[in-house]
Amino acid sequence: MDTFPWWNEAQIRLAEEAAKFVDEVLMPVGMRSIAKNELAREATRLMAGRDWFGALVPKKYGGHFEDWGVTGAAILNEEAARAGVVGPLGTTMFGSATQLLHNGSEEQKQKWLPAMAKGELLGCITMTEPYAGSDIASIESTAVRAGDDYIINGKKRFQTTAAAADLYLCYFRTSGKPEDRAAYRHLSAFVVEKGAPGFHVEKVNDMIGMFGNYNGNLTFDQARIPAFNRLGNEGDGWKIMMGGLNVERILNAAPILGLMRECIRYAKQHLERRLQFGRPTGDIATNQFKLAEMISKLCLSRVMMYYACHCIDLGREIPVEAAVSKLFAADSLMETALEAIQCMGGNGALKIYPVQRIMQDAKLTQIAAGTSEVLKLLIYRQGTKRMKDDLKAPQRMIDPDLKVPLPVGKPPARVAARSEADVLAVLAENYRVNPGLHMTMDDIREWLEASDADLKKYLEALEARGWAGLYRTRQGIALARVTLAGLQQAHAPEYYRYIPDWAAPQDMF
Ligand SMILES: Cc1cc2nc3c(=O)[nH]c(=O)nc-3n(C[C@H](O)[C@H](O)[C@H](O)COP(=O)(O)OP(=O)(O)OC[C@H]3O[C@@H](n4cnc5c(N)ncnc54)[C@H](O)[C@@H]3O)c2cc1C
Repeated sequence: MDTFPWWNEAQIRLAEEAAKFVDEVLMPVGMRSIAKNELAREATRLMAGRDWFGALVPKKYGGHFEDWGVTGAAILNEEAARAGVVGPLGTTMFGSATQLLHNGSEEQKQKWLPAMAKGELLGCITMTEPYAGSDIASIESTAVRAGDDYIINGKKRFQTTAAAADLYLCYFRTSGKPEDRAAYRHLSAFVVEKGAPGFHVEKVNDMIGMFGNYNGNLTFDQARIPAFNRLGNEGDGWKIMMGGLNVERILNAAPILGLMRECIRYAKQHLERRLQFGRPTGDIATNQFKLAEMISKLCLSRVMMYYACHCIDLGREIPVEAAVSKLFAADSLMETALEAIQCMGGNGALKIYPVQRIMQDAKLTQIAAGTSEVLKLLIYRQGTKRMKDDLKAPQRMIDPDLKVPLPVGKPPARVAARSEADVLAVLAENYRVNPGLHMTMDDIREWLEASDADLKKYLEALEARGWAGLYRTRQGIALARVTLAGLQQAHAPEYYRYIPDWAAPQDMF
């Protein structure tokens, strides 16, 4: 495994040992489970024996968090995925251990974390419901307090490691009040233990991919759990869920890297050993390009994800980087798996090679832990917010010599707006500088000093005269532009004319 210069010694050692252990021990065990499509129990036991389940658990509770951190957890998930046995490892880490660590009471941590660190208790993250997928705030299942217990009713679906797990980190509705729903205070987080009365597996899902692990649906029929099992306070569920998503997304991205490496490995094996037209297929430039693209995607995915891990280990909040890591890796794996099969020809489609299976898993990676579309929404919203200063619209003016718009550099002093004519002049100038674009209220205020009320008054006056067009949202006027009549009112037609020097004068009219 390629290491990164910022990894500590323990992480570098862990990466070397994990890669060797996967190749020599875990790979045959994992592939056997996959071939039989049975839960990878033996591999889970072997990983537990090497303390891998304790990567995110502090030493105090028997883990290695201080040495390995989220980076170490990602290293292990990347490696385990190559052997196809990552499921329970990942869900135990991000499904329960992290959430318990950050939100559990000392008693709760003492009760569960040591056994989780040893791999004796497997975890599962339990959010999705039949009628609540991407819109996860719309969870319907309920937990109602009854003395020292909670009574739970509802259904969950698509849980990875369902049935095999011992601890289910669940989110249920604890308030039906509209004001709590509006403030995202309607959910609470609970640990539900396997064996709780009324808690059952409803279905094991047969799906493309995910061989060697369970994915299932759960049902809670008057299920009873102790109030002790609630994490945080009632109403903290949404906060807890959101707080765990960065690590969850990172640890969903990490296995993808291992799967990409396997695709490249098998494609390379074939390209070197398959002769067609009297030469290895790897001598064909288009096949080399395919491999080059796979390697590029792997490099970019790894740098992004391990950078995000490093930030989390430094204590930084990185929702955008975590989402980009998962999005980019998942989409890259989908393309990589398809191209690896293509490089291998018919062999790529055979079940005796893992690449066709990885292609199936690749589709799932674009859905689990936030679909690619939902991640793009998050990246758009949070990314543009975070880059607000960098993305500020450039202030430009027509250069008196060149007669084209150029950035102003240091902004000119703003002029006090005394009448609607001043606002019209700014809108008309914007027609020359940013043709076809409206102005925001802030854009106008870059040039004019005016209170909100005055600006609104002037713009509405211009609109009433037909000199400005306004675009309104629920918050009020959002965008403004000059109209044709406004342009005529502001300046003579010649003012708007621009003919570059290279244009032949005799052609102009
Ligand atoms: C392999 C696998 C493992 C999983 N493991 C777990 C688990 O361990 N625990 C758990 O709780 N859940 C798990 N899930 C569930 C997973 O989190 C959901 O499937 C996922 O969040 C999408 O929800 P959905 O399937 O209901 O799709 P929907 O929300 O119905 O979405 C359908 C389509 O519409 C798109 N869409 C939805 N809303 C928007 C929007 N606002 N803008 C743009 N596009 C949108 C989606 O991107 C998708 O393409 C798993 C799913 C899979 C496939």
